Amino acid sequence: MRVTVLGSGDAFGAGGRFHSAYLTEVPGATFLLDCGPSILQSAKQVCWDLGKLDAVLITHLHGDHFGGVPFLFMEYRYETPRTRPFAIYGPEGTERRVRALFAALYEHTAAQPLPFPVEYRELAAGEAVELGAARVTPLPVHHAPELTAFAYRVEVEGRTFLYSGDTAWTDELAAHARGVDLFVCECSTFETRLDIHVSYPEIAARAHELGCRRLVLSHLGSEPLRRLEELRLECARDGMTLDL
Ligand SMILES: [Zn+2]
Ligand SMILES: [Zn+2]
Repeated sequence: MRVTVLGSGDAFGAGGRFHSAYLTEVPGATFLLDCGPSILQSAKQVCWDLGKLDAVLITHLHGDHFGGVPFLFMEYRYETPRTRPFAIYGPEGTERRVRALFAALYEHTAAQPLPFPVEYRELAAGEAVELGAARVTPLPVHHAPELTAFAYRVEVEGRTFLYSGDTAWTDELAAHARGVDLFVCECSTFETRLDIHVSYPEIAARAHELGCRRLVLSHLGSEPLRRLEELRLECARDGMTLDL
């Protein structure tokens, strides 16, 4: 399994970083975990062929995590012509929100049929999907109270990758992360404590207990980025690849 961090930034593009998107390549399937609005720039920055993508899995319906889907549709409509199906997984409301966003951004194109089938599937927590050799499971996390937010656990041939999405630091999150081979965890703040995001001191205090083979912080906001030199935990960079 190879994970390429296409976007390690927060909602505000702190540090000039791209919005959330994690390209995940496994035997028999290639998919994105999250698809922020900067998806075309971030993929083309690493010269990655978007035609290879089979699916997108969205953690939650905040713009920095799903706002790039209509731009992928435009890419497949005009620049990288596509006829094979494209699958979109996410929490309840994903199809309605993606369709509404596409219509808002490209009213005329969105009103016409796309030249490829788009298969939406809205997942319940714990409802695993098989993508090639991967078993991908949405796990509930605590983020904005008005919406459903998932972390995704990706298991391939005995290796496990957990991507937190956006979440508060909770015992439940720690339980999901315990013992995984790779944990990519959001770290939006440093000094500021919020009940919807992880701050650096919260994860730094617990990191050693998790027993993850590798822990990488991402979704980095302006506070942790200002202190990058003093952070003891590994931080993601746009374009970085993680092999496991
Ligand atoms: Zn976010
Ligand atoms: Zn969010």
